[in-house]
Amino acid sequence: MKKKLYIKTYGCQMNMYDSARMADVLAPLGYAPSDSPEGADMIILNTCHIREKAAEKVYSELGRLREVQAGKAETGGRTLIAVAGCVAQAEGEEMLRRAPQVDLVVGPQTYHRLPELVARAERAGPGRGILDTDFPEEDKFDRLPEESRPQGPAAFLSIQEGCDKFCTFCVVPYTRGAEYSRPAADVLAEARRLVAQGTREITLLGQNVNAYHGEVPDGRGDWGLGRLTRELAEIDGLARIRYTTSHPRDVDDELIAAHRDVDALMPFLHLPVQSGSDRILEAMNRRHTADTYRRIVDRLREAQPNLAMASDFIVGFPGESDADFGETLRLVADIGFAQAYSFKYSPRPGTPASTVETQVPEEVKKERLAGLQQLLGEQQLAFNHRTVGRRLPVLLDRHGKKPGQLIGRSPYMQSVHVDAPARLLGRIVDVDITEALPNSLHGRVATAICESGADSAMDNQHVERAAI
Ligand code: SAM
Ligand code: SF4
Repeated sequence: MKKKLYIKTYGCQMNMYDSARMADVLAPLGYAPSDSPEGADMIILNTCHIREKAAEKVYSELGRLREVQAGKAETGGRTLIAVAGCVAQAEGEEMLRRAPQVDLVVGPQTYHRLPELVARAERAGPGRGILDTDFPEEDKFDRLPEESRPQGPAAFLSIQEGCDKFCTFCVVPYTRGAEYSRPAADVLAEARRLVAQGTREITLLGQNVNAYHGEVPDGRGDWGLGRLTRELAEIDGLARIRYTTSHPRDVDDELIAAHRDVDALMPFLHLPVQSGSDRILEAMNRRHTADTYRRIVDRLREAQPNLAMASDFIVGFPGESDADFGETLRLVADIGFAQAYSFKYSPRPGTPASTVETQVPEEVKKERLAGLQQLLGEQQLAFNHRTVGRRLPVLLDRHGKKPGQLIGRSPYMQSVHVDAPARLLGRIVDVDITEALPNSLHGRVATAICESGADSAMDNQHVERAAI
């Protein structure tokens, strides 16, 4: 009989990818994914350490799960609880001490060992939690089985992990370990399998994805991300390539040229800058200036005039003055972002910035965040408005909330809602954009295509070239 596996994923796309792979690893043991924790034989919390009070949120979720465990025990069964991901890595032993209902604590680099760990946890019995937060010698990706389920029209593919940059605010180098790139042959093989299962768009993932330097298929040297995208674009049926998250320091000539030459590479780039002040960028150990960032964006836009930019910002980093914050606003005004994530700085235990004395008061952080988000929100809405009246190719990748509605992504990562028959799911269709909202667009599938059902016309990727 199948065992029920419930995975709750927190945080970024890398965690979503990891969760899918954990399900793959556990499938041979008879575990099949389930939508709810109730009655599950195993629950995995795949955690993220980036947001504030991340660990506390996991502990309170674990409190709730104790009841689920008790309910299962009443029927004579057992629910194994595993905590995976970056909170697991950071908390380690402490998690087993504070939450004895946890059977397994497993870090992001060791989840390929889950079958063995689960067997050990089953033997050990309740209250005798097992910990594996190593940074192992063996290659996790080598030990993972092939993906067991189709990922759908838009899929993630992890190509790089970890980080050696040690920004002074960030836990990633401690929780995800040293930078590592998967060999190019493995990435190409996984991409081909995804496409064979119906995937049209692949988002390449990595903490610093453009630091990618994967061993080439003949083992002689490395490919950077620019070269990798060129090779991926050769895969028949793969219409769209994206990558996230990148670091300004690792944008090289080859990657810029790929944005010029590779049609499948979508004209949208998430390139976090964090601050517009050189003083703060230095204190963050970002190793570039605000003007270097401006120049990189200029070069990228020269190569791909339609490029829509997205970024991450931190306000209230220790020592940030009004003038420093003003520099951030100036940079935002100069670049013009189509999307952005912005956060108040929050100290992460163990990171250098957390012990600096010049912490910015909460009130000031709040005010600066509101000011920045106002400006970024206006830019996003203005960007969305500029697409109204245009015809954009949209990959319809999911059902909407309303009956008969499908949702997809424009080349610029905007969510586009259309009324369309379910048979168009997974296809790239031309959509006339009729309305722009802050976080989405509405449109009509181009009539000629919809009425004629001329699917072949829709199989082509028409990347818009008109300036927007
Ligand atoms: N590798 C990417 C880069 O270098 O920009 C970012 C990865 S990080 C997982 C995602 C985002 O979380 C960062 O870009 C930053 O804006 C935010 N972040 C990370 N640590 C933070 C902290 N201590 N306080 C507030 N925001 C933080
Ligand atoms: Fe964290 Fe990104 Fe800096 Fe690495 S480059 S330490 S992942 S913010």
